[in-house]
Amino acid sequence: MRQVLTSLALAVLTIGLLAAAPRAAEPLKVVATFSILGDMVTQVGGGAVEVVTLVPPGGDAHSYQPAPKDAQAIAAAGLVVVNGLRMEGWLDRLILASGTRAPVVVASSGVKPLIMGDEGGSGAKAATDPHAWQNLANGQIYVRTIAEALANADPANADGYRRRADAYVKELADLDRWVHDQIDQVPPAKRKVITSHDAFGYFAKAYGITFLAPSGISTESEPTAAGLGKLTNQIKAEHIKALFLENMTDPRLLAMLAKDSGAVIGGTLYSDSLSPAGGPADSYVAMFRHNVPALAAAMQKN
Ligand SMILES: [Zn+2]
Repeated sequence: MRQVLTSLALAVLTIGLLAAAPRAAEPLKVVATFSILGDMVTQVGGGAVEVVTLVPPGGDAHSYQPAPKDAQAIAAAGLVVVNGLRMEGWLDRLILASGTRAPVVVASSGVKPLIMGDEGGSGAKAATDPHAWQNLANGQIYVRTIAEALANADPANADGYRRRADAYVKELADLDRWVHDQIDQVPPAKRKVITSHDAFGYFAKAYGITFLAPSGISTESEPTAAGLGKLTNQIKAEHIKALFLENMTDPRLLAMLAKDSGAVIGGTLYSDSLSPAGGPADSYVAMFRHNVPALAAAMQKN
């Protein structure tokens, strides 16, 4: 009898200890506004986070129309990661509607913003360029900012977030040197590219390329006929052959431009959105590995 009681007591004690022991922690729910930020959060967060990306791969984060499930995802989130620099004009209302109290981190904090002049093909007035991630030096700032926000939201895993951020920042610094090496092989006079909208301002400045685009820094601005005519003449006069589609914009405009100017469409660039998983640009790093050799090869034909 005593033996049975002791076993029973041991069993009760064991159950008690099991109940008191911390269960495997729930992952931190993080909402990222678009796929490039979603990938950065995944790289830094590892298994400690569960990431929901609002704008799907191939979607346009400038003109996104949120769905009711997006407000639900934000309401359930422990952290919301946004680009800022006026990229997500639709976001403030969504956050308000969700009633969330989760901290909202602006990944571009600490980046020096580029102000676009009104000399672009669209004739748009000066505005802040949101595409700061297209410079890998800025990408490293994004990663540090995201890592600190994760560490604050989930202090138990702070060491892991910072360790993964260190490794990822090193990878991005190596990639940055590789991009410079690739572009440096193109003679400076040939470094001119046409794209659908002005998504490569930071890339252009960082790596020494001139990008010309019929649309402005937002896909929401329509190019004018006069702006298009001017751009067509420039393509002809400067013998620019490198003309690229973007994965998230309407291809018809560039097709028309190619026809009028005699330039050839050299492929697709990933600017504001990644490809679906398994595609040619399904991570922030893969996006540069895809875009840069395509750009370099097309510019050599200028
Ligand atoms: Zn854009």
